[in-house]
Amino acid sequence: MRRSGETALVLFSGGQDSSTCLAWALANFGRVETIGFRYGQRHAVEMDCRPVILAEIRRLFPAWTVKLGDDHLLDLSVIRGLGATAMTHNIAIQSGNAGLPNTFVPGRNLLFFTAAAALAYRRGIRTLVGGMCETDYSGYPDCRDDTIKALQVALGLGMDTRFVLETPLMWIDKPATWELAERLGGAPLLELIVENTHSCYIGERGERHDWGYGCGKCPACALRSQGYGRYRAKREAGSHGNC
Ligand code: ZN
Repeated sequence: MRRSGETALVLFSGGQDSSTCLAWALANFGRVETIGFRYGQRHAVEMDCRPVILAEIRRLFPAWTVKLGDDHLLDLSVIRGLGATAMTHNIAIQSGNAGLPNTFVPGRNLLFFTAAAALAYRRGIRTLVGGMCETDYSGYPDCRDDTIKALQVALGLGMDTRFVLETPLMWIDKPATWELAERLGGAPLLELIVENTHSCYIGERGERHDWGYGCGKCPACALRSQGYGRYRAKREAGSHGNC
């Protein structure tokens, strides 16, 4: 899929998934802008990673640099005021209502896409890209394909504009997300993602593992490290098979 005549706006948090989506957009669209949100998240680590990742992309990928446009930062701290979650308040991660972990921030992705669409509307952009995934998510209902499709319809009707919400990770698991990064940008992109993106829910960035930085124990670290391990194992098996 190449839409080189179009601009995409990527929801870019500084995590593994949104960084992979950014690379995907740069490979497929003629111009790419990024948007990030301050919503009262407990740890600023992820937000601090954003400018570093953008600078590294500009340094390592000249063909993408010419496509990479403005980065937008929006304040959605109203989310923190709506109630406590483990992402916005200093409380332990645990299961909450209806089996959902309390890392679920109700309405977050809906607000993110709505704010991004409002910005896109003003900038004449019709494609929005998000890293939502239904395959190995934590059961977050706003990551579901049906939610995103319904939102695409609602945003299109509400702004009388044909928006397209692209979610390139929707049907792939974490090992396949690492594979996608490798396919898009080879070893330099993999290294960039390992070194510079952040997933850990508790903001730990002390120890460097082969999959990157993090506590290694929280659900986000578990998903990232297990995914990386399975990706590497599959890769090793493949390279031995080729010998
Ligand atoms: Zn962690």
